[in-house]
Amino acid sequence: MATKSRRARILRAALLVAATLVLAPLLRAGWHLGRVAQSDGESLSRAPVSDGAVVTDFGGHDQATPARVVRLRPPVDAAIELLRQALSDPTTAGLPVSVGGARHSSGGQTLTRGGVFVDASAFTCVRYDPRTTLVTVCGGTRWADVVPVLHAHGRSVAVMQSNDDFTVGGSLSVNAHGWQLGRGPVGSTVTALRVMLADGSVVTATPDDNALLFRHVIGGYGLFGVVLEATLETVPNARYRSHTVVVDADQVAREFAAARRSGAEFAYARLAMTDDELLRTALFTRFEPTGDAPSGPLEESRAGPLARAVFRGQSRSPYGRELRWTLERYFGGEAGGTRLRTSIQHESAEWFLNGRVGRVDVLHEYFVPPSRLGRFLGDVRSILRAQDADALNMTIRSVSADATSALPYAREDVLAVVMFFHDSLDADGDQRQQALSRSLTDAALAHGGTYYLPYRPHATPEQLRRSYPSFDAFVAAKRALDPTLRFRSVWFDRYAVEP
Ligand SMILES: Cc1cc2nc3c(=O)[nH]c(=O)nc-3n(C[C@H](O)[C@H](O)[C@H](O)COP(=O)(O)OP(=O)(O)OC[C@H]3O[C@@H](n4cnc5c(N)ncnc54)[C@H](O)[C@@H]3O)c2cc1C
Repeated sequence: MATKSRRARILRAALLVAATLVLAPLLRAGWHLGRVAQSDGESLSRAPVSDGAVVTDFGGHDQATPARVVRLRPPVDAAIELLRQALSDPTTAGLPVSVGGARHSSGGQTLTRGGVFVDASAFTCVRYDPRTTLVTVCGGTRWADVVPVLHAHGRSVAVMQSNDDFTVGGSLSVNAHGWQLGRGPVGSTVTALRVMLADGSVVTATPDDNALLFRHVIGGYGLFGVVLEATLETVPNARYRSHTVVVDADQVAREFAAARRSGAEFAYARLAMTDDELLRTALFTRFEPTGDAPSGPLEESRAGPLARAVFRGQSRSPYGRELRWTLERYFGGEAGGTRLRTSIQHESAEWFLNGRVGRVDVLHEYFVPPSRLGRFLGDVRSILRAQDADALNMTIRSVSADATSALPYAREDVLAVVMFFHDSLDADGDQRQQALSRSLTDAALAHGGTYYLPYRPHATPEQLRRSYPSFDAFVAAKRALDPTLRFRSVWFDRYAVEP
């Protein structure tokens, strides 16, 4: 009898211990994520622009009050008329003109103070030609509007960013890249551009005709003219299966090469952000075509509130970073299953962006030759620790050499290290990010690399010129093609005009 009751007691205790072991981590995760959700808000989007209103760019560090706002809308002929009239209007003659698309750049690239602001964000049109398989879009069209049209024709975008919030005009003007494997930046997919120059004339530029203009509009940061229309290559839609492996970070370059050999068409690595494994381990994901017909509906990728809380919950929380890493490492993150290429491309960035007032997400990106990645990451780790940076995410993509633009960041095949930090939206936060950015730029330069221009303009003018040896020639071409410097931006003035 006594033995029986002792056994029952032991069993109850064992059950209690087991329940505690299972429940405690769940309760801790629930408590952590609940707290994050409570202090979070909706992703903060930019306010609409109106005459006299303040225009900001991504994050809101830079602001400008334009004297006049010109809102482009389709059809193209009407937009041409409106723009031409604005450029020749005597009341605004001599004022600088800047252009904005989705305004996801974050260093004044779309802004001028007291000038004319051309708002292309509603200038949307998409025309697919099944005979040529080319797509022609108005300059303000977002990828989110291009992808569904191509999907309906069994086609997809050849090269774009990893999210679809951006306009085609803005993407070409920074010469964006994505995680399409074995491809250069988006400029390599452009067959023709229609551009309005500062004198109101409309010019068609292709890699062969008006080639100088073409090379400068691609990656030209809106400084050479307004992109009215762009014609882009498309590729067949396809179904892909994803495969994820855990690798040492210094093996990532080898994984990209192997993925290319195996026929993968998308690939990226996500680095560990935890204290123990910081930038030492990576989840490497590649997408290979299954060969199945690309049938099925277009599925917009929408992560839910739980994924958002897991992502945002990493800020200043070693536990939060462990939680995300554990979930992605052992439960697959976004990998697994098969997806259409168009569905992979149809994802907004909104789900993971900052929602807290007074706080800001700051992106940085550096490009290094594959052979230098391991040593670069070693330097990045030391810098992050020394400067106590609040890093939420780092991914690596492969970008093939850019033979198109006059100001290339990929002068050879490179690996792009995309970094996502969180900070306060004030002078102190910006100072911290500046110090971080300058250290990371020095590290990239030391490894034969460079940094990406659409983000905060924190690099010194000397770092800019070392990163972009063709910058002074780019400015000389700008002065030749736009002698009155009509197209301007806060960013351009900082590096090319101000003493
Ligand atoms: C969350 C997030 C994720 C990102 N991911 C990636 C990524 O995966 N890969 C990548 O390469 N980049 C990425 N970026 C950077 C992004 O590609 C650039 O900021 C890009 O410019 C965004 O497009 P946009 O429409 O917002 O351009 P805007 O910021 O509006 O404009 C950018 C530049 O283009 C010019 N411009 C805009 N429209 C026109 C036009 N019609 N004619 C002439 N000039 C024009 C502007 O004057 C400005 O100089 C990311 C940025 C964010 C915030």
